Amino acid sequence: MSETDTIFGKIIRREIPAEILYEDDLCLAFRDINAQAPVHLLVIPKQPIAKLADAESQDHALLGHLLLTVKRVAEQAGLEKGYRVVINSGEDGGQTVDHLHLHILGGRQMTWPPG
Ligand code: 5GP
Repeated sequence: MSETDTIFGKIIRREIPAEILYEDDLCLAFRDINAQAPVHLLVIPKQPIAKLADAESQDHALLGHLLLTVKRVAEQAGLEKGYRVVINSGEDGGQTVDHLHLHILGGRQMTWPPG
């Protein structure tokens, strides 16, 4: 495991199991192991960007692709009433896995503000 590798790197390489719902050349979507809503999915780039704060201008197409993948996967998951997309970045953001990921939360009414 390299310094930049994480549990999500292992999921990308199929070294640990995950319920994968979508995959293409650039990204992967799978169910969160500790769901905070009836539907809780994660979309991650295959490129191991540690956090949103580390993304650079050359990543703009990848970041757009991740958002469009969120839309596609949410549709596939039947979240026609809506959903929330969350990116935790860094320590104060509450990020626990150092590989950029977008949470998709749905299947219930979300509240605001988040904790
Ligand atoms: P963060 O707190 O970094 O924004 O979110 C990390 C997310 O990854 C958490 O919601 C956590 O439940 C999820 N997670 C951590 N380890 C695993 C795992 O091994 N498999 C899956 N599917 N999700 C994981």
